[in-house]
Amino acid sequence: MCPICKNQNKIIKRGFYRRPSDQKKVQRYHCKSCKISFSDQTYAIDYRQQKRWFNQSCFLTLCSGVSQRRTAYIFRVVPRTIARRVKKFGEICEKNLEKYRDNRAKANEVEFDELETFIHTKLKPVTIPIAVEKKTRKVLALSIGNIGAKGHLKQISIKKYGRRPSERLPALKSMAKDLQKCLASKANIGSDKCPLYPKLVRDYFPEASHHTCTGSRGAVVGLGELKKTVFDPIFTLNHTYAMFRDNLKTLSRRTWATAKRKDRLLLLLNIYAWFHNLWLDRKRAKPKLEVFNC
Ligand SMILES: [Zn+2]
Repeated sequence: MCPICKNQNKIIKRGFYRRPSDQKKVQRYHCKSCKISFSDQTYAIDYRQQKRWFNQSCFLTLCSGVSQRRTAYIFRVVPRTIARRVKKFGEICEKNLEKYRDNRAKANEVEFDELETFIHTKLKPVTIPIAVEKKTRKVLALSIGNIGAKGHLKQISIKKYGRRPSERLPALKSMAKDLQKCLASKANIGSDKCPLYPKLVRDYFPEASHHTCTGSRGAVVGLGELKKTVFDPIFTLNHTYAMFRDNLKTLSRRTWATAKRKDRLLLLLNIYAWFHNLWLDRKRAKPKLEVFNC
């Protein structure tokens, strides 16, 4: 497909070139209507990369509770390379998730809630609404938004960083909007008893039935989401949250590796969400990062 006119018919093959980094032969093409040339690499995930050999292992490592700096150390590259990969992988995974939502069968049972973490310091908390399909544990939609600090941190936070406008509702709405694409109209939606949720569900999923159960906030130490002995009605969700926290270094509790930027944290979340969905299908194929074609 031509990158400019998106036409598939007026394309001819036009020789090869040998890629310097790994000596691979790459097919070139020419579009007769735009008079431009492109190659198999134009749409590849390693387009214009030099160190393409570690892409797959980097993807797995980043989703296995290893910090970006340590990933750089393991693969003998500079941290900047990993930061660039995070950006690239995050964009691919975001698109993959979007395509996945559009093309999968409609989900009937979904649970959603918010995961709380922070950017840089506990004075700048963020909320991460995530929707999970109950039966398969697959992540369907996620989003991120700033929220104000709570408790005794509230005054300190306002003094130091000023008032942070709460983006909780916009984040929830963006998650709900994405979820609309892959949810059956008469679906069952489960969540905890947050007062914001009933209206959100009514607005975005008017025909769905909404069940709430008493949720308890995660403990500070340990896997808060799973640290319970009683029956947990939103187990699927909490289990997924625990997996997010365990496998993304920036989300783990009491960590040094805090996220520094909200947009980069969202990229990491998208990478993990996509990895998580592939991981659940691991009997079919080993998790591998590629452009998702359904
Ligand atoms: Zn063209």
